[in-house]
Amino acid sequence: MIIGIDDTDSRDGMCTTYLAAVLIGKLEHYGTIKGYPLLIRLNPNIKYKTRGNAAIAITFEPANDTDVGQVKALVIGTVEEMAVFSDENTNPGVVFIEDAPEKLCTDLRVFSMQAVQDVLAIREAEELMKRHGISYRGFKNGRGLIGALAAAGFALCGLPDSTYELIAYREKDRWGTPREIDEESVWAAAGTPGTWDTVDYGNKQIVFAPHSPDPILFGIRGSSEGALMLAFSGIRSEPVERHVVYRTNQNTDMHLIHGKVADVLDSRSYVLDGIVTRQPETIEGGHVIFGISDNGASIDCAAFEPTKGFRNIIRALLAGDEVTVSGSVNDRTLNLEKIKIRSLNNRVMRNPLCCGKRMSSMGKGQGFRCGKCGAVKKEQELEIVERKLEPGYYEVPPCARRHLSKPLSRAGI
Ligand code: ATP
Repeated sequence: MIIGIDDTDSRDGMCTTYLAAVLIGKLEHYGTIKGYPLLIRLNPNIKYKTRGNAAIAITFEPANDTDVGQVKALVIGTVEEMAVFSDENTNPGVVFIEDAPEKLCTDLRVFSMQAVQDVLAIREAEELMKRHGISYRGFKNGRGLIGALAAAGFALCGLPDSTYELIAYREKDRWGTPREIDEESVWAAAGTPGTWDTVDYGNKQIVFAPHSPDPILFGIRGSSEGALMLAFSGIRSEPVERHVVYRTNQNTDMHLIHGKVADVLDSRSYVLDGIVTRQPETIEGGHVIFGISDNGASIDCAAFEPTKGFRNIIRALLAGDEVTVSGSVNDRTLNLEKIKIRSLNNRVMRNPLCCGKRMSSMGKGQGFRCGKCGAVKKEQELEIVERKLEPGYYEVPPCARRHLSKPLSRAGI
């Protein structure tokens, strides 16, 4: 039996992964958990998400004498007991896949990928489940069925790429209080091979612990359970109530669609080729915006303030540079996660020099005048500039990395 669960938490507390962790403890009395529970990150641009748009799937084999109806009642009872129903944005969904005919995977594979890359309607999840006789329970408007079915789909049909995360949970009476974690031990554990994003070396910051009032103490990300356990064993902290190792699509770039600028839609994430056409500009709040074009279509790209030093790379771009950008699009602006600078333009048209200064424009098509001696010139001049940037790949620092974004180190870069 595959159990999918989503949308049980609120901003003020709880977390669907914690509900899953508690449920795993209960299910172990009724049978065996097969493989790792899945922690699936869905489309990061969905407006209904609480934080990281996560959903959970657990593959469970009931013991011979276990009544499957009792297991379903246990799952639903746990959601009823733990979900934050008072939050109007919490609409839990629970899905049970018991049979897996071939055709189900054909449909589910598409559905699950769409949940990561596209925007789905609740009706689409319900229709698919009715068509295949999947049993489910939606609470309130049932929106959580989308994520619950998508996560169950990956558990049934496979994840094309995956990583692991060990999540350690806090004792209940500490929820909402400052986390007690020995920083020195975290910096030491952060160097464990096969783990990443425990700390942000560049910004001298620990990034593996949230600051919200939820039950999570910290999460260690990496390429194998062995690596996570090794790092975990070195961390000194307040008591860990329980921990779970999840298999996950985090850090895989699964959300990215290889597209063309002309075809971009809001609320999706893309990899796009283009030429810089709007010079980078730092706007209020410290965000840096520039524009790219491809075959007559253009889009703005943003390196927001939390991306810290990454903005210096972006500020150094010039019109004419050839780039490949990756990130999520909202309001026709791509929120940069990574950039590949394919080629740098060193030929720049600039106002002519005179008396040691640049001449001023006299208006569009009117030429240029020297403010000092009054000399006039008609055209801008070609200048070969020396670039401080190197072509290559650049990414936002760990403190600004989105859950789904693949670190360059994972791509062997
Ligand atoms: P947390 O990370 O703390 O578990 P969350 O950020 O996962 O919270 P949810 O509370 O699960 O957010 O809310 C996200 C809602 O959006 C869920 O109801 C989920 O089913 C739905 N959803 C997820 N992906 C899509 C999608 N691609 N299209 C439409 N709805 C989606």
